[in-house]
Amino acid sequence: MSEAIRENTRRLLEELPEAVELVAAAKGRTPEEVQQAVDAGVKIIGENYVQEAERAYALLEKKVQWHFIGHLQKNKAKKAIALFDMIETIDSVEIAMEIDKRCRQVGKVMPVLVEINSGREKQKSGVLPEEAEQLVREISSLPNIKVTGLMTMGPLLDKEGSRDSFAETRRLYERIKALALPDVEMKYLSMGMTGNYRAAIEEGANIIRIGSKIFGERRD
Ligand SMILES: *Cc1c(COP(=O)(O)O)cnc(C)c1O
Repeated sequence: MSEAIRENTRRLLEELPEAVELVAAAKGRTPEEVQQAVDAGVKIIGENYVQEAERAYALLEKKVQWHFIGHLQKNKAKKAIALFDMIETIDSVEIAMEIDKRCRQVGKVMPVLVEINSGREKQKSGVLPEEAEQLVREISSLPNIKVTGLMTMGPLLDKEGSRDSFAETRRLYERIKALALPDVEMKYLSMGMTGNYRAAIEEGANIIRIGSKIFGERRD
């Protein structure tokens, strides 16, 4: 079992183009499982839950980067900014302001991605593509966060639709980049999971977030 995680990780890393960074999506996995992925070369851990991240953070032996990829609640912002090197899921001015405030208290600038609801699914987090530019503009002036790109999940139910969603998010990314907004540095496009990461890379992703292909099918 433990060999499987190492082997999956190595195989995946070998397959990825050099410019693409791998985030190991660790939700529901034990710190030991996360450690095995790190041993095999994972450099960035993605966590959906602050509490799980705290647990893994305390046990992990190697220094790695931590990306928050879940839905962040305001009351978890203080803990989150202490643990994470990037927050990939900004989708409101309110949460951006909370992170900004908490970062200011500890003298930190947090790189963030704006999450796009590219599948246009109700009940999904993320802003609609047409609302993204406005949100980037509004939060770009906050001194203790730095917008560094976009993130999207793509449609959850319609797997075939993910390529179109990725392509649309890529166009949005390029368009916002071309605006050259002050204090915005568009350089990361985080899209693609186990089921669709190859399509995501073809459509321009330079961060992919992989869980099952590394750790095995989810138990939850
Ligand atoms: C779970 C998760 C992933 C990885 O999903 P897999 O299909 O297991 O690869 C990627 N991104 C986010 C935001 C997730 O919650």
